[in-house]
Amino acid sequence: MSATIIDGFQIAANVRGRVAKQVSELKKKGICPCLAVILVGEDPASISYVTGKEKALAEVGMTDKSIRLPADTKEQDLLNIIDELNDDKTVHGILVQLPLPKHINEEKVIMAINPEKDVDGFHPINVGNMVIGKKSYLPCTPHGVLVLLREMNIPTNGMHAVVVGRSNIVGKPLSILLSRKDINATVTICHTGTKNIAEHTRQADILIAAVGKAGVITADMIKPGATVIDVGVNRIPDSTKKSGFRLVGDVDFEAAKKVASFITPVPRGVGPMTIAMLMQNTLEAAQGK
Ligand code: NAP
Repeated sequence: MSATIIDGFQIAANVRGRVAKQVSELKKKGICPCLAVILVGEDPASISYVTGKEKALAEVGMTDKSIRLPADTKEQDLLNIIDELNDDKTVHGILVQLPLPKHINEEKVIMAINPEKDVDGFHPINVGNMVIGKKSYLPCTPHGVLVLLREMNIPTNGMHAVVVGRSNIVGKPLSILLSRKDINATVTICHTGTKNIAEHTRQADILIAAVGKAGVITADMIKPGATVIDVGVNRIPDSTKKSGFRLVGDVDFEAAKKVASFITPVPRGVGPMTIAMLMQNTLEAAQGK
């Protein structure tokens, strides 16, 4: 048996295609969706994420206001820029690429963004609305995972989903969204305090890895026939690549695909979905939804 590989790259392209159509409708009404993208410092992974987001914005016909700041930018200067963007009617969404340099308080920065422009869905108002099931910007990676499950017709109702990782941007919101009535999964969330993780993961109909450690999910941790969603993105050395590294997920992909029924690859799995959902949130911000 070999699992069906979930083509996140294609599914994300379909989402972007739908967004692009709506962007052109909006432009006919004189509104051009614009996302301000702020990058502080020169972390190579962050630069590549930001570049990917800006490329996608152009592709769907949106404008980006790209703001690059040096690593030693003062916290107050960044907060002042966010204030200006909050007041700028031509800017519909604000994205601050994380992580920020250590001397800047991320929480303070997230709190400074007007929740109506918080297209990442990280502001506590959006998080709170998500938890109680009210309209909000859903965080892009968890939302992208849900769209992958839906587009692949993977049943969630009554299924046991096990999420490994409890970060505020992936594991925690994903566990909440999966347990929402319209998704209706039974959710277990694992972390570094979990005793015998494999005992839990082996019970998963849907196993989601959001850890950030290459190969932490091995084939023997997967129930035969399960759906495996690998959110992890890890750089491992590879002398055959020009860059000297390649990207892998948290799951031992080659072994896992022999056990699972559906599996996402890394790259071309969850990653492109994150960007596609960002495009969708920015569109909704411009539509004033
Ligand atoms: P994070 O903030 O570092 O959180 C990692 C989580 O994994 C924590 O909750 C941690 O537990 C848990 N953990 C660490 N080691 C573990 C282990 N051995 N067993 C069980 N749980 C363990 O990371 P994140 O921001 O959620 O990101 C996770 C991964 O997803 C990273 O590789 C990141 O690059 C990737 N990512 C990908 C996308 C995408 O679009 N594809 C988007 C965002 C993130 P504790 O809470 O107990 O410390």
